[in-house]
Amino acid sequence: MQDNRYDALADATYDVVVVGSGAGAMTAALRAHDRGLSVLVVEKSDVYGGTTAVSGGGIWIPCNDQIAALGGNDSYEEAITYLRDVVGEDFDAPRIDAYLENGPKMLAWLAKDAQTHFHSVPRYPDYYPDRKGGKPGYRTMEPRAFDAARLGEHFDTLRAPAPSTLIGGRITMTQIEAHTIVAKERGWLRLTMGLMLRYATDFRWRRRTSRDRRLTLGNALVASLRAALAQRDIALWLGTPMRSLQSEGGRVTGVVVTRNGQPFGIRATHGVVLACGGFEANQAMREQYLPKPTRAEWSAAPPINTGDGIRAGLALGADVALMDFVWGVPTVGVPGEQSQRGLFVERSAPRCVMVNQLGRRFVNESAPYPDVIHAMYADHARTQANVPAWMIFDAEYRKRYPCGVLLPGSVQPDSRIPAGWLDKVIYRADTLAELAAKIGVNADGLAQTVVQMNGYAATGIDTEFGKGNNVFDRYYGDSSSKPNPCLGPIERAPFYALRLDPGEIGTKGGLRTDAHARVLRPDNSVIDGLYALGNTSAAVMGKVYPGPGSTIGPAMTFGYVAANHIAAARRSEQPAHFTEDVS
Ligand SMILES: Cc1cc2nc3c(=O)[nH]c(=O)nc-3n(C[C@H](O)[C@H](O)[C@H](O)COP(=O)(O)OP(=O)(O)OC[C@H]3O[C@@H](n4cnc5c(N)ncnc54)[C@H](O)[C@@H]3O)c2cc1C
Repeated sequence: MQDNRYDALADATYDVVVVGSGAGAMTAALRAHDRGLSVLVVEKSDVYGGTTAVSGGGIWIPCNDQIAALGGNDSYEEAITYLRDVVGEDFDAPRIDAYLENGPKMLAWLAKDAQTHFHSVPRYPDYYPDRKGGKPGYRTMEPRAFDAARLGEHFDTLRAPAPSTLIGGRITMTQIEAHTIVAKERGWLRLTMGLMLRYATDFRWRRRTSRDRRLTLGNALVASLRAALAQRDIALWLGTPMRSLQSEGGRVTGVVVTRNGQPFGIRATHGVVLACGGFEANQAMREQYLPKPTRAEWSAAPPINTGDGIRAGLALGADVALMDFVWGVPTVGVPGEQSQRGLFVERSAPRCVMVNQLGRRFVNESAPYPDVIHAMYADHARTQANVPAWMIFDAEYRKRYPCGVLLPGSVQPDSRIPAGWLDKVIYRADTLAELAAKIGVNADGLAQTVVQMNGYAATGIDTEFGKGNNVFDRYYGDSSSKPNPCLGPIERAPFYALRLDPGEIGTKGGLRTDAHARVLRPDNSVIDGLYALGNTSAAVMGKVYPGPGSTIGPAMTFGYVAANHIAAARRSEQPAHFTEDVS
């Protein structure tokens, strides 16, 4: 990826060049600007926001300053105990420290100076709430809804939200609203009607676009950061892919991009921040690094991140880590959609079961989504019969709950399943045996599994995998289902099946970085002038997903940290290019 033909080329000069335009990238750009540096953001796509824009926008920030006011509690000791426990062998104390210390500071600055606001989600638990230091809520925060009109012309180039996060593919919800609706909590129907009515009566905005004016989740986060960039006149060049890094004497000095079809050199006098995602859309890198089988089409992320930042770093001698791990989620393909849909919540409802092709369970269906993917591959290694796996549910489930591709049958009955979807996207049969035959699953195995599941539903105790045992499992369960909100009998015909692929919301492996987000070589020396964050860097969370928002929270925090480091290096007038051993 290094291309020295353009060494002498400097068509433009900035203190800092940020590559990519997700939330981490924009946080770095804003902070660098506010610390007195000139900044340019370059983005490969014609729209900005990256995967962040289609995401839930959640960030996991332990000890955030809203917890006490909402009646919760947290402490640094509990947070670090939890992370040490769940991150395990990958626990990197200086980086985790930097994360815990700077997350709340980053939030306070964004709220005060960049009008980017989050609120804590009191009941969204850590993914391992029963581990030491785990919490039943509060650490996850979601962006405040954002009026798209405030973006002016920049609304047109904001990456659109994922259809799976919208009611009927159009109407936005916050995370708290989505939980109320999915878990059928008190007032869910009135809330749904209210959201639909607000959308339908927004006549002025409807003349401009069918997209909802009320932006939520990742779209709200990206929009808010984009508005702050615009307010500061920070340039964001769309359609400008970084092709290579430039370096002199081991120090990174800039990038070469393609601009208007031509190579264009940009000098970065104080630092290049690589925030251009992972490699989920690069099939060759998937084959090289990830467990197999693996397909780029199975991803829930938009097909944009091709590992460019990681390869550019490797070309300069950077080290990589965690390259065989993803932020996994089981996904379902929908015709005409550019990405598959992640099944984040519907696995927790009662009356469903996930099976391999032998008809056998292999995981707690409610488990954190990356754990489901680990379990799929582990089972596949044993049985060669897991990829794809299947989610099976009955008519009562279909009537009551959304299932990733369809709204509940009470709102979207089978008569309104889109043409061509039946037995391609969602399979249906009058008996479990017929369903098994249609999808190529062992019928006897499935029959036995369903009998077992129905036994667990009666007692409320899943003796095999413990579905519904903790507060995270139950978060998206059905509170009206007794005795266990995640278990119910699979007994009413017709029966349904969805094909589950081992997808992801992004890859986890990337350039190894230190506590200042500086990129490291294998010998732990720093590549001066080069910073990496988000999925371009190896995840600070190691192989696990400690709580909702564990990817964007660190991406933004290390964007803040990187910018602070660049600014401090300049201010101290120390040569920022000294090489330091951080081992
Ligand atoms: C449906 C869904 C829901 C999710 N919900 C959450 C959630 O609630 N909380 C959470 O923490 N995570 C969530 N995630 C995961 C999260 O969105 C990603 O892990 C995160 O956004 C990655 O951030 P990033 O900055 O690394 O990459 P991105 O946000 O993807 O940004 C990378 C950008 O770099 C650009 N780029 C790539 N190559 C180049 C190049 N050569 N030159 C210039 N630009 C380039 C890309 O076009 C892209 O715009 C979700 C993901 C999905 C799909």
